[in-house]
Amino acid sequence: MKALRKLAATHEHFELVEVAEPKPEPGWVVLDVIYAGICGTDLHIMHNAFPSWPPVTVGHEFLGRVASTAGVGVTGWVVGDRVVCEPHSLACGICHLCRRGHAEVCMHKRSPGWGIDGGMAERVHVPAHLLHRVPAQVSDLDAALCEPTAIVMTALERTPIPPGGTVLVFGPGPIGLLAAMAVRACGAGRVVLVGRPSSQSRLDLAQRLDIEVWDSTQVDVVARAQEITSGRGADLVLETSGAQEAVASAIAALRRRGRLCVLGVPDSPTLQVPWATAMNRALDVTFSLSSSWASWDAALALMAHGAVHPGPLATVFPLTRWQEAFTALSERRVVKALLDPRAP
Ligand SMILES: [Zn+2]
Ligand SMILES: [Zn+2]
Repeated sequence: MKALRKLAATHEHFELVEVAEPKPEPGWVVLDVIYAGICGTDLHIMHNAFPSWPPVTVGHEFLGRVASTAGVGVTGWVVGDRVVCEPHSLACGICHLCRRGHAEVCMHKRSPGWGIDGGMAERVHVPAHLLHRVPAQVSDLDAALCEPTAIVMTALERTPIPPGGTVLVFGPGPIGLLAAMAVRACGAGRVVLVGRPSSQSRLDLAQRLDIEVWDSTQVDVVARAQEITSGRGADLVLETSGAQEAVASAIAALRRRGRLCVLGVPDSPTLQVPWATAMNRALDVTFSLSSSWASWDAALALMAHGAVHPGPLATVFPLTRWQEAFTALSERRVVKALLDPRAP
């Protein structure tokens, strides 16, 4: 079968190659991949800016159908089931994080796509206990974006949404767009996506999704946040950009006793932030990483009810045209790229 692999730990060493079919091990299943999503992490893996264990098939976000349940001890799944899969394979199960139910941040975890073979292939081999069934009414395109939606839902498990409150989402990338949709679905009053629009396509998409956008190069975000909240400031900010200016402006835009939830990965190890303002406002600050087990079901439930509809973010490329997809994504010509291994 065809698989997109990082063959060596050198810069940009990706290649579409023929590999042997995976054989189901005890407790594991083989999936026929429907779509595999490319995310920022994959670009980092390509450029050796994220750890990987080559040679390895890339892709940690995928939708598939169960192709084989021949692995010993696999119960509850039949061939043909449409599923998504948490990327928390090889979590140890015995460390203090696993025992607290946080296998997603286990230090021993090796995910498909960098630690073990991933989903940018015709088939992928994954532990059955990480699967989630996709409800019938959820489209393939929506379900293919379950992983980034679960990332957002995990952040919302950690940071409650103020009912009817004002929420700013910094960063108009896929996570920011999904966060704006999810926050709106979960009871916020006014939701604004704030960012420096790196491309017109992202702004157009936000508009099509009926999301209010403030261009931070044009709007005084802090003044505007106060203006729409009778001088108080925003109740909650979700920071998805990782940019220093965005973090500073997020803190300045919040009200006293407001909440900041951080999802954006910064480009540099340290950021200068207005710490005194954060202290003076008695802010609650939460950092959210990876996706919990419960967040996957929450993401699928919101999609099933039509409350979150990620499909429009996606542009599909055949797996054979993976280079085009990676380039389009890194040049920000598309918001989210999916690879289809079934397409010619
Ligand atoms: Zn990802
Ligand atoms: Zn562990």
